Amino acid sequence: MKSIETYSPRKLSEALRILSERREGIRVIAGATDIIVQVLERKKDPGALLNISYLDELRFIREDEGTVRIGALTTHREIERSPIIKKRGKLLAEAAFIVGSPQIKNLGTIAGNVANASPVADVVPPLMVLGSVLTLKSSSGERRIPIGEFATGPGATVMRPDELLIEISFPALRPDEISFYERLGQRRLLSISKVGVAFRARCAGKKLSDVSIALGAVAPRVITAPRTAAFLEGKEYSEEVAAEAARIVESESKAITDIRSTESYRNRMAGALLIRGFARVFQSFPG
Ligand SMILES: Cc1cc2nc3c(=O)[nH]c(=O)nc-3n(C[C@H](O)[C@H](O)[C@H](O)COP(=O)(O)OP(=O)(O)OC[C@H]3O[C@@H](n4cnc5c(N)ncnc54)[C@H](O)[C@@H]3O)c2cc1C
Repeated sequence: MKSIETYSPRKLSEALRILSERREGIRVIAGATDIIVQVLERKKDPGALLNISYLDELRFIREDEGTVRIGALTTHREIERSPIIKKRGKLLAEAAFIVGSPQIKNLGTIAGNVANASPVADVVPPLMVLGSVLTLKSSSGERRIPIGEFATGPGATVMRPDELLIEISFPALRPDEISFYERLGQRRLLSISKVGVAFRARCAGKKLSDVSIALGAVAPRVITAPRTAAFLEGKEYSEEVAAEAARIVESESKAITDIRSTESYRNRMAGALLIRGFARVFQSFPG
């Protein structure tokens, strides 16, 4: 195997300078759990590599005045265990728990999962319903874009070759909000998602408002389910309401048949996962 020229800067400013000089001729690696597979399968010839894993300034989880901020290099393991995320972004902790295996969770980063732009990425549906904003930085400036505008298709994003994704932020969940992430894989763990459903809403008693739903693995990129969300707006949760919401979400799912599953099964399972998530959340509610 030929050797690959690799840069391992210790400062973000140095990393951005290298990116701006090399542009298309260099690939960013963080935990390398996605990119190593692509390189080994020869889907990608990386040219040179920019290893950003030593940029400790990009490892943090904090809450500032109602906003949760997560540094790009934060691993799935750190997210899964973070008291801030468990309380203020609960469904994101649930998604991080599901990712891969302990080894993958210790290496794989949140920004790598987002930047890889896979429609099956587990942290993206939760980040969508949380209303996340991505901070992209280059040596010439910084811009912030909503996560829903980031991926344009499988493996394709609006990020420029001279930019790094440095931070992901979202409004912290409040005590009157409920959330869940449910996914179906071949196995519970160590399998790629066939369908993923993320849900967030305000909840007074069992009455839902400000509903947001995102679906993974049922379209070329993660999508929202606006008709299902509109149906649930202002409704009291009941098994009948959940069943009707499931029928609507199945019609919003745009699944395809591939090696992992069939179109009709995936669409049906989007509805089943919504019902399962509701049952999990509301089983602890009185009445
Ligand atoms: C066995 C196995 C099981 C897995 N299971 C799951 C699973 O259950 N769910 C799931 O969602 N994923 C899974 N994955 C995929 C992968 O582990 C995750 O997507 C992980 O979060 C990727 O992060 P990384 O840091 O390793 O990314 P890398 O492989 O280092 O990078 C991935 C892509 O993102 C780019 N990139 C990384 N960081 C940045 C940045 N800060 N700015 C700009 N570009 C950047 C890279 O250039 C590359 O294109 C699995 C992978 C393996 C090998």
